[in-house]
This record gives sequence, C-alpha cells and structure tokens, in this order.
Amino acid sequence: LADGPAERSEPGVPPDEVRRRVALRFGPRSLTYGELAGAAGAVAASIGRAGRAGRVAVWATPELETAVAVTGALLAGVAAVPLNPKSGEKELAHILSDSAPTLVLAAPGAHLPSALGDVPRADVDASATGTPPADETADGDPALVVYTSGTTGPPKGAVLPRRALAATLDALAEAWQWTGDDVLVHGLPLFHVHGLVLGVLGPLRRGGSVRHLGRFSPEGVARELRAGATMVFGVPTMYHRIAEALPGDPELAGALAGARLLVSGSAALPAHDHERIAAATGRRVIERYGMTETLMNTAVRADGQAPAGTVGPPLPGVELRLVEEDGTEIGAYDGESVGEVQVRGPNLFSEYLNRPDATAAAFTPDGWFRTGDMAVREPDGSVCIVGRKATDLIKSGGYKIGAGEIENALLEHPGVREAAVTGEPDADLGERIVAWIVPADPGSPPGAEELADHVARRLAPHKRPRVVRYLEALPRNDMGKIMKRALADA
Ligand code: ATP
Ligand code: MG
Repeated sequence: LADGPAERSEPGVPPDEVRRRVALRFGPRSLTYGELAGAAGAVAASIGRAGRAGRVAVWATPELETAVAVTGALLAGVAAVPLNPKSGEKELAHILSDSAPTLVLAAPGAHLPSALGDVPRADVDASATGTPPADETADGDPALVVYTSGTTGPPKGAVLPRRALAATLDALAEAWQWTGDDVLVHGLPLFHVHGLVLGVLGPLRRGGSVRHLGRFSPEGVARELRAGATMVFGVPTMYHRIAEALPGDPELAGALAGARLLVSGSAALPAHDHERIAAATGRRVIERYGMTETLMNTAVRADGQAPAGTVGPPLPGVELRLVEEDGTEIGAYDGESVGEVQVRGPNLFSEYLNRPDATAAAFTPDGWFRTGDMAVREPDGSVCIVGRKATDLIKSGGYKIGAGEIENALLEHPGVREAAVTGEPDADLGERIVAWIVPADPGSPPGAEELADHVARRLAPHKRPRVVRYLEALPRNDMGKIMKRALADA
C-alpha cells in the first residue's frame, strides 16, 4: 500500500494515532491498524520463506482472514491470486493450473475442495503478530493476479502491478474526496477488483475503515450507515434490492439520505432503480466504470450531478478515447457518436497471465487497451456506456442499436421484473431484437405486443423487440452480471 497515510512512518508500521483506529470489521470481528499490521506482517514473514518469484493463492471467503492474507502478500511483495470459493471444479482447476500458486492462504477451518489438493495450505491467524521482510518491491512488480468475471468467455488472469493499484486508488480519492475519515459499507465478494481493490485496499490506503456485511442486505446497509458509515459500494443488483425495499422502509431511506457517497459499478445501473432511489432518498447513486484489466477508468465526481447511465469523466491520469470500427478516433464530444472505449494510463494491467496472444490482441499498436465496451461522450466530457461490442450492440435494419436503452425501457413496465436484450440473426434485418423477460407476476406476464409497443412509444419504432421470450430468472454470475452468452441456451 506504499505511501498511504496508514504507513507513513516505516513500511508496515503505522503511526500511533492510526494504529488504534479500526481498519477492518467483518461481522462481530475487527482489527485495528496496529493489529492488522501485526497479522499481515506474520503472513508476510511466512510467505517470505516461500520465495518472491512465486504466487500465493488466497481462498477469498468474505472474512477478515482474506483481507489479512492479501495485505500480507502485498507486504511480502508476492503476487496474490484471489480465488472465488464458489467456483466450480472446472473453473478452479483452470485457474490453479494457469496461476500455479506455491501456497494457498485460507481462514482456519475453511473447507478447500480437492482441486486444491496438491497446493500446500497455510491458515491465516488474524491475531498473530509478525514483522514483514524488508521492503524491496518495485512499482512494476505484480501485486495481484485477478481473474476476469467470465461474462464473455473463460476468465483470464489479469496481472496487476503495484503501480496500477496505487494509481487507481489515488485517482478515486481525488474524484471522491475520499479520506481516512470515511467508513465504507461493503457487501461484495473479495475475489474481484470491485470488492478487493476498491472495497478493501481503498479504505486501507486512506487510513479509513471497512465494515463488511458478510452477506449483503438492505437492512445491513441501513444499520451500518446509522452507526456512522459514510460510503456504500455496490453492484446494480444490490441497488435494485435497495430500490425494491425503499417503499416499505422509511429507516432505509433516512439512512441512505445521510450517506456521503453511494457508488455503483461492475455493470450498468438500470435507470429505473437509479430514479426510484433518488426519489425516495434525495440522493443520486454515482457510477464509476472499470474493468479487471484497467482498474478504474472513469467516475462521476463526489460533487457531480450525473444522470443515470453516465459514468463520469476519465479519472486523473487516465487517457480515454472513442474509436470507430474503421480505426478513426471520434473527435467531438457530441453525445451521439458511438465508438469503442480505449484507454491508456498507470492504472492498466501488464498482461494476461500465460496469454501473450490475448495480451497482444488487447492492445493497439500504439499502446491503447481495447476495452470492448462501446460508449458516447457528452459535451462536458462525461462517458456514457452503451454496452459491450460483442453482446450489446445490435445491428438491425441498418441501425446500430444499444441493448441497454431497450432494457431500461422494458424495466419501466410494471409487469417486468428483469429484462435483457440481445440480437439474433435475421434474414431481412441482419439481426433482430430479442427481449428476454422475467415477469413480475409469472401468472400473468405482459404480452409480447404490449411490450414491443411500450418500447416503440418510448424510444423509436426500429427499437421494437421482434421476439419476446419469458424466463423464470436471468442467468447471472456471482457479481450479478447478466451472462448474455448463456441466454441463447436458456
Ligand atoms: P470477462 O472479461 O471475463 O468476459 P467481465 O468483462 O464481466 O468478464 P470484469 O472485468 O469484472 O469482467 O468487468 C468489466 C466490464 O464490466 C466492463 O468491460 C464493462 O462492460 C462492465 N462495467 C463495469 N462498470 C460498468 C458501469 N458502470 N456501467 C456499465 N458497464 C460497466
Ligand atoms: Mg471483460
């Protein structure tokens, strides 16, 4: 965590006032900065012997030990690979053979599956104290290998240098006026960038506090906010649950109204949820846009008043451009021209582990990372994500249509609980628009004609879904992201 306020004196030795402050609280268990330095120091000392060149895996349950293990690996200067404890055998086997860890760190008593059988295990003792080895790390050293969410294909291991973590967290601190006085309510898993880098390392770098809920619930958020928390980080499915709970829960509305910052990311926040929360609390959820490979690219500023769907301007230090299919850069910020988001900056990963082909393909010859996301820029420089090039841009009847705005329109229909829009090959149109609907009341789903008319009235006739399919639930991954590639088989 380099030169964050928590470590201003000697590496790993915070000043007294910070030592007494609570760094992490998971349910009833907590660690002050002094205790965390001791426990992470003990982990670092034990990994130190395992050798710098290797990688350590962390069995990333939503527990105190996961945060201690990752902090310890950072102090030791060894790259940590957070593992999703809910991974299936096949995915876990892929990640283990790809990342080849020399050690797996786990909470005592955690049950490790047989796929992990050959990797030596070390239990993390959150009450231990130890001294980390002398700091000999360089900015470019790998800090983490984080596997992408697997939304569009098998997860790839993004190697994140120490520099990228520092750059992204300091840029967010500037955009959000994030300080050591902030207390974060956290209900996300710890094996992705959102929950681990932003949610754990972010507060630690500022010398602030994390309150992890273990399991997200709107009541838990309200409780922590009433107890003095200042910020909430969540994914859209969490804000959806909050939006649903608000009408019957004035205490939740009051608690959210008092928060300093409500932040959403990892996927687009549906406009309907954004607006319901704003109406009930007077507070606007702000969005930030990032990826495993780039950490954070843009964020609405703490004092910004962005409408739903706007993810803010590029963060300090991040260069961002929109590029058309033929490779030309979109020059004007006109709020209309759609291009692929490409980024450059100190926030970027260095490579996909063992995938020189994929790494090379991900960058342009002049060093810009191709995100695969499509966006427009507003005249004020803010970015609006249209969706992913591969799954969210439908080419129909000569138009390029973003799935997101159709999904937003469908979600405003009272008979619709969840909606996803895809394109399907069509002899006449090139692609036809397909709406996948989870009805609010499975006993009386809204009809296909009615839904198509609803969309055409709100948007435009050519954005009318041609086919409507009904499902009991949308296929989602552990971050609540809709897995569109699984829809075709649903
Ligand atoms: P995979 O790369 O394995 O298919 P993934 O892209 O979902 O999975 P992540 O790196 O976790 O894995 O997610 C990054 C993607 O999430 C971005 O490329 C973008 O499509 C989406 N995303 C993140 N934040 C936002 C946001 N605020 N609005 C819209 N989309 C977002
Ligand atoms: Mg991706």
